[in-house]
Amino acid sequence: MSDGHRLVVDRVACAGHGMCYGTAPDLIDCDEQGDPILPDRMLTGAEADAAEAAVLACPERALTLVPAS
Ligand code: SF4
Repeated sequence: MSDGHRLVVDRVACAGHGMCYGTAPDLIDCDEQGDPILPDRMLTGAEADAAEAAVLACPERALTLVPAS
């Protein structure tokens, strides 16, 4: 995965069970409700790799890597 991507979450689809921050704890935090807190910026190449793993780990398909426009 190259850099220049942002990680976004569909808050409606998210069920808050934490597979994403369990998979990428250095990149994704969580709040008191168990909802993910994502970096609000473009990701570096290494971060994008971790983000891709989190996207694949989400059973609700709530996470998306969006390329820079
Ligand atoms: S794994 Fe998906 S559904 Fe679960 S908290 Fe993360 S974004 Fe939400």
